[in-house]
Amino acid sequence: MRYISTRGQAPALSFEEVVLTGMASDGGLYVPEEIPPLSHEALASMAGLSYAEIAFRVMKPYVGGEIDDDTFRTIVRDAYAAFSHDAVVPLNQLDANHFLLELFHGPTLAFKDVALQLLGRILDHFLAKRGERAVIMGATSGDTGSAAIEGCRHCDNLDIFILHPHNRVSEVQRRQMTTVLADNVFNIAIEGNFDDAQAMVKASFADQDFLDGTRLVAVNSINWARIMAQIVYYVAAAVALGAPRRDVSFCVPSANFGNLFAGYMAYRMGLPVQQFIIATNANDILHRTLADNDFSKRDLIATLAPSMDIVVSSNFERLLFEAYDRDAEAVGTLLERFQVEPAALADAPLADLRRLFASHSVDDDTILDVIREAHQRTQETLDPHTATGYRAAERVRSDSTVPMITLATAHPAKFAEAVVKAGFPGVPLPPHMDDLLEREERYTVLPATLESVQRFVAEQRR
Ligand SMILES: *Cc1c(COP(=O)(O)O)cnc(C)c1O
Repeated sequence: MRYISTRGQAPALSFEEVVLTGMASDGGLYVPEEIPPLSHEALASMAGLSYAEIAFRVMKPYVGGEIDDDTFRTIVRDAYAAFSHDAVVPLNQLDANHFLLELFHGPTLAFKDVALQLLGRILDHFLAKRGERAVIMGATSGDTGSAAIEGCRHCDNLDIFILHPHNRVSEVQRRQMTTVLADNVFNIAIEGNFDDAQAMVKASFADQDFLDGTRLVAVNSINWARIMAQIVYYVAAAVALGAPRRDVSFCVPSANFGNLFAGYMAYRMGLPVQQFIIATNANDILHRTLADNDFSKRDLIATLAPSMDIVVSSNFERLLFEAYDRDAEAVGTLLERFQVEPAALADAPLADLRRLFASHSVDDDTILDVIREAHQRTQETLDPHTATGYRAAERVRSDSTVPMITLATAHPAKFAEAVVKAGFPGVPLPPHMDDLLEREERYTVLPATLESVQRFVAEQRR
């Protein structure tokens, strides 16, 4: 399997190279050159298999033989053994035909664990094979940092440095990062804000000389392996509900669109999906684009669903590439315009997208209403991100006879603030985390200067 860039100028890469690379050198994102088919027989044969075995079968063509089958099976099994539910991603039936796909049973209680538990292990495998070491750097305002740390804590060939703004992340989110005491995990509290931290990480990727030749790896949602890992749960959920005999629909709380793009890949592989619904919070670029063909940036709004607070939706480029029939030049022109002024999609690709996708945006007041309403109707406490999905699914689903699967992207205890605001007494952390507030922490406070951060990384890496 080869991977090509959405901008058409960067060299095609193998799976191993694409996992180690992240963004393409032409500013585009890598996608598989061909989309491997999932036949009806292949889907039918997955009924009753474990999540790890379905994962192995769905991902195998993307790995393209670059990891031998036995090793890849072991990597996948280990990645999902870290989840606290035997089904890994259980389906929870809310009413006659609406299901929650619970993606929050991993170590940090959000769906990003599904991909990052796997990515860390794949990176470690390739680095060991090459006899190389690598450094991961990332900036976080909460969610991704802890999932990346949990995914890399056991990796011998990786050192991970995660920057967070000092005193500006919640105590639970900080402790999910700082209580991981592994020798290869370094938490840096920057005396500045998230943008300062982000800028230092970006500058470090742009000029990696401070690492004397050691590779710097990105684990953000543009890494292809994260998309690949997420395709699996769409397949597993649909098979559990009767695919390939029966269609299903999915509703996905969305921001950078990495989660939903994985669902679209499952559809293109052959999964019978009737409808995809994009749920957004007040940061609604995806909804405005689809509903009004208003593909433009707006100022960031801080919402009760903070992991969906974005201005630009980076993985949407991958969907545009498909909607434009892989015309890299047209996609490049559109995205260059979008960077500087409001843009619009061409008629044909937009019409194409509207046949499969619908969208809905949910503001903070509505999130609180939905948490109350869903609890009253189903006894479930939704986290604020999942609440946007619940509402969007009810509002814009096209056919109530087709099972609707709303992706529950976080455990409510992780975002207890919104739940309390909705009038509930709070949500306890699950048993494996209930001593989080007593665990020993380790982190280093540094001034917000590139020089101090890079010196720390260069000195501490093993
Ligand atoms: C990251 C995240 C999202 C958004 O996912 P994208 O892949 O960026 O669309 C939604 N909910 C939660 C809880 C998240 O952490």
